[in-house]
Amino acid sequence: MPDPIIFHVDVNSAFLSWTASDRMAKGIDKVDLRDLPSAIGGDPKTRHGIITAKSIPAKRYGIVTGEPVSQALRKCPSLILVPGDYSLYARQSQALMDLLRKYAPAVDPFSIDEAFCDMTGTASLYGDPVLFAHKLKDEIRRDLGFTVNVGISSNHLLAKMASDFTKPDRVHTLWPREIPRKMWPLPAADLLFVGESTAQKLKSLGILTIGDLAGTPEDLLVSHFGKHGSQMLAYANGTEPSDLTSRHRKSRGFSNEITISHDLVDREEARLILLSLCETLAARIRLQGDKIRLVGVYYKDSSFVSASRQTRLNRSSSSTQTIYETALSLLHELWDGRPLRLLGVRGSEIDKDSGSYQMDLFDAGKNRKLDQLDAAVDQIRDKFGDSSIRRAVFLGADETDLKKRRSNRSRKKPEDPTEPETPCC
Ligand SMILES: [Mg+2]
Repeated sequence: MPDPIIFHVDVNSAFLSWTASDRMAKGIDKVDLRDLPSAIGGDPKTRHGIITAKSIPAKRYGIVTGEPVSQALRKCPSLILVPGDYSLYARQSQALMDLLRKYAPAVDPFSIDEAFCDMTGTASLYGDPVLFAHKLKDEIRRDLGFTVNVGISSNHLLAKMASDFTKPDRVHTLWPREIPRKMWPLPAADLLFVGESTAQKLKSLGILTIGDLAGTPEDLLVSHFGKHGSQMLAYANGTEPSDLTSRHRKSRGFSNEITISHDLVDREEARLILLSLCETLAARIRLQGDKIRLVGVYYKDSSFVSASRQTRLNRSSSSTQTIYETALSLLHELWDGRPLRLLGVRGSEIDKDSGSYQMDLFDAGKNRKLDQLDAAVDQIRDKFGDSSIRRAVFLGADETDLKKRRSNRSRKKPEDPTEPETPCC
């Protein structure tokens, strides 16, 4: 068996890079946004919304992701603000995944701008993995117009940690033997799955670096953090977590969500976003050869209050239409029209798709037809790319329709465009 080799490919400042390269390609900008103090977020006219991505020059003004646009403009009055465009992000993400699939035997998208590539056994095809990673990132920059970091290791955790070292446009390795030198000096907060509040608590225990954590007795960590304590100890020593790969992630179910920078109040817009979320979710479920029994929707409102609702299907399904119709009726029940900032859909209670059909009373072959339709769409997209077939409702949605809808609504009230943080994957 060849030694495992995992790449973690992560787009640098994804939303900003994707926007900048798209605007350069369309001739909108003469100067690259990445070279100017610029940010994605909100609406420059209304000064509403939050910053979801910023350029390196903007960072020098102290602008941080997640801060209100009005505050960022006070720090840098000449800041160029560009509204978010989730259909652009979805297209750029798809282009990246398609390029990775040309070379990697297995591509596992981790979020809209990150993917794990299992490159085990490819050395005979591509040669040294580090040299190949350089070629891969250069091809992405040349053909797609944006830069990525590639982290390389023998497991997912270490590859992901490695891709987070110095940016942009870099390749880093983090082999297990390099852990003491490259990973242990980092602050504990840099370790995957260590959140801000955990890092604070670790600090109060005198655990400042990942190396400190790696050397802490397990029972001490368990007494303060429970099961998460032993998990953190394992990660600090480079052990693969059980939930980083799609195989394990999917045992918890599938989910797909979008963060929106403006207050989402328009039911028609919410319906379109939900449909787009369901399309990606259902395609991923089918890709894994699965079906789900439980469908849920969830949201966060503008005061960051969460709510969710779920229901069990009569029969397990991977049909886009079934999942979408169910999710839409759940959203109708759940949502009273309050302004939303995040919308998500999830599927769980996974059945392996046996290809057999449990007909319900009213089925009459409809479900089989829906499944055949989805399979045909998947095949076409697999062969000719994601944009080769689109729902009529989305045709031109990224261009004319959304613009029209936005300008119609902006006459009624000022608003910002939609911005996702983790829409697909
Ligand atoms: Mg990224």
